[in-house]
Amino acid sequence: MKRRICIVGTGTAGLHLAYALKKEFDVTVISHRTAEQIRNGRIQSTQVHFGSTIERERRFSMPKWSEHTRIESIHMTIGQQKLFAGTLAEPALSVDQRFYFSHCLEELIERKVPVLFKKINNENLGELIEEFDLVIDCTGKNGPLFPFPIEKDFSPFQTPQRKCIVGYFRGIKPLTPQGINVTILPGEGEMFEIPALTDQGPVTILFIMAIQEKRLDIFKAIRSSDEFTLKIRTVLQSFFPEIASRIVEESFALNDEKGFLQTAITPVIRKPYTIIQNKLAVGCGDSVFLNDPITGQGCNLSSYCAEKLYETLIEFKDEPWNSQLGESYWDKTKPLVKQVTEWTNAMTMPMPEHVIDQILQGSGEQAKADRIAGWFADPSTAYQDIFQGSKIQ
Ligand SMILES: Cc1cc2nc3c(=O)[nH]c(=O)nc-3n(C[C@H](O)[C@H](O)[C@H](O)COP(=O)(O)OP(=O)(O)OC[C@H]3O[C@@H](n4cnc5c(N)ncnc54)[C@H](O)[C@@H]3O)c2cc1C
Repeated sequence: MKRRICIVGTGTAGLHLAYALKKEFDVTVISHRTAEQIRNGRIQSTQVHFGSTIERERRFSMPKWSEHTRIESIHMTIGQQKLFAGTLAEPALSVDQRFYFSHCLEELIERKVPVLFKKINNENLGELIEEFDLVIDCTGKNGPLFPFPIEKDFSPFQTPQRKCIVGYFRGIKPLTPQGINVTILPGEGEMFEIPALTDQGPVTILFIMAIQEKRLDIFKAIRSSDEFTLKIRTVLQSFFPEIASRIVEESFALNDEKGFLQTAITPVIRKPYTIIQNKLAVGCGDSVFLNDPITGQGCNLSSYCAEKLYETLIEFKDEPWNSQLGESYWDKTKPLVKQVTEWTNAMTMPMPEHVIDQILQGSGEQAKADRIAGWFADPSTAYQDIFQGSKIQ
């Protein structure tokens, strides 16, 4: 008989695991919301999936998306000075999570994976632990459900380092080559302009990371989509004139009423397993590895850790599921978790001179620009360049 696994949460981590594990194990998925509720809900992310994540989606036979909005490069500007466009080795893709998650959920149901719609809380969690051989906590930043211990060395902050302000817009002419447009305003924050796909077609995501109480932090009292659009216009004209110059007046608008978001994340890293009611419980994704979105790594790290958890469960398929399995999963994930977390935390602090120097070098030489673009696709290279002083070749 196949071992029974319950996956709580149908975001990036939960869906990767559902697709990956469904052949080898008896998988049940718990979703807080129906596919329709997800589709009609508010945006949650900017969700850029880099090449290795797209490769894992292929490995686990997850849905394939139109490449109309494929991201081929990273454009870099500091202040008002455009420095370079670095080419990504493999294209990336941002698909609106409302579209991605609801579509995957419907496909899993079609493929006869049992999906239960309910919210898990302290009262009903005990029943799940009893019923299944393993419960995987993929509840994202609203989690965790289990008391996974905090890794203090990786969790230096008690408060958010940025305010995240995101809108999905129509009516902005794309950059060429198509890519993510990063603008760093030292002392104020950052802007990421990202081409993305929604179920209504292509959009341009504008993602402001505002340092608290500085000049980009002016969205506090904004509640309606109209107020949000007006405020974005003002911010573009004042701080990002190049993006403002690409606005097409007749069509510039939010993609939909729920196509905007304001949030702030306090990063926290936890050991991703615990023993509860004498059984192993594991976490995957933001429930255990929650970083600031400034480097766009959350989905990619969730996908990576889902693959490592899948490989660990296969390795322990005929072994007891205990803390040894948990430790093996943590051993596999810890190196990348460390690299992503330390790089991401550093990017929320004033940028050290040697990092600014490296970015400036990118404006003189394409190979250097490509190397910096590659930081986002392979964060281990960012870690090497920033913390281990490897020379950009
Ligand atoms: C503004 C912003 C921009 C971002 N941009 C990027 C980016 O460009 N690239 C990138 O890689 N990452 C990005 N991220 C991070 C990325 O979105 C997350 O890291 C990723 O979605 C985490 O996946 P997850 O599965 O852990 O959690 P989620 O995708 O949040 O999914 C959590 C799931 O758990 C469910 N759930 C929660 N509580 C319960 C409960 N009690 N019972 C049942 N179900 C429950 C939720 O309904 C949901 O289905 C961004 C994040 C933010 C906030």
